[in-house]
Amino acid sequence: MTQGKNAIITGSTSGIGLGIAESMAAAGMNVMLNGFGDAGEIEELRSRLASGNNVKVGYNGADMTKPEEIEALVAQAESDFGQVDVVVNNAGIQNVQPVEEFPTAKWDAILAINLSSAFHTTRLTLGGMKQRGWGRIINIASAHGLVASPFKSAYVAAKHGVLGLTKTVALEAAEHGVTVNAICPGYVLTPLVEKQIPDTAKSRGISEDAVIHDVMLGGQPTKKFVKTEELGGFAVFLCSDAAASITGAALPVDGGWTAQ
Ligand code: NAD
Repeated sequence: MTQGKNAIITGSTSGIGLGIAESMAAAGMNVMLNGFGDAGEIEELRSRLASGNNVKVGYNGADMTKPEEIEALVAQAESDFGQVDVVVNNAGIQNVQPVEEFPTAKWDAILAINLSSAFHTTRLTLGGMKQRGWGRIINIASAHGLVASPFKSAYVAAKHGVLGLTKTVALEAAEHGVTVNAICPGYVLTPLVEKQIPDTAKSRGISEDAVIHDVMLGGQPTKKFVKTEELGGFAVFLCSDAAASITGAALPVDGGWTAQ
């Protein structure tokens, strides 16, 4: 049932997006990769996913802050695959600083990449999905789409915004076989999280070790990082027929964080 479906996954050269790309390719889906990185390594990844799973895998390096590049990404997927059935809005960045010191350029970039890019991919692909009577939009929000933490004003604002976009588009698409959901992961040990450990230590005046054990895993009752393959498996499930009635939902995969 997921076999042969065509997916765009933004920010899939690393971390969670890469985990979702691996799971979707393994489920027989064609995948359009996106994200930054070393050209040789990305080509190696593209060809490994394609030959290892016998699916089509493309790459488009669109900068998700730029609407015209997002248009080119969608156009490439439509031309390579014929149509786009699944969009995973995953590209994201973080910046950890008190709000009075938060650089305005960082605020703008986080809103553009973490929120507005999902609006653009959605507006460009939803029409085709509705017309064909089947589609899946999966927005990778965060536990920070449901609750806040200090020093992450732009990120928390953007992720709460993603939930608003998710619910609205879900209602607009509900009668057309298209589901729209947000996955809200807890902490996953990816480069995005590794990079924020020193800044969080500085903002809170604690050691880096305390950031990992007290701040990150302290609030996550399982005391374990969420794994990218768990998120990949869940995203594939949302593409299945069994998930046809799950729409407009904010779905935590957070080791119990937001149960508290
Ligand atoms: P990551 O840094 O490992 O990966 C981010 C990806 O986005 C990379 O492929 C990167 O190249 C791409 N990217 C960044 N800026 C881009 C741009 N302007 N245009 C195109 N691509 C761009 O991060 P991750 O932890 O895998 O995060 C992926 C998503 O999951 C983000 O939306 C993040 O907010 C969300 N998330 C992460 C965690 C976590 O703990 N890691 C928790 C909850 C939600």
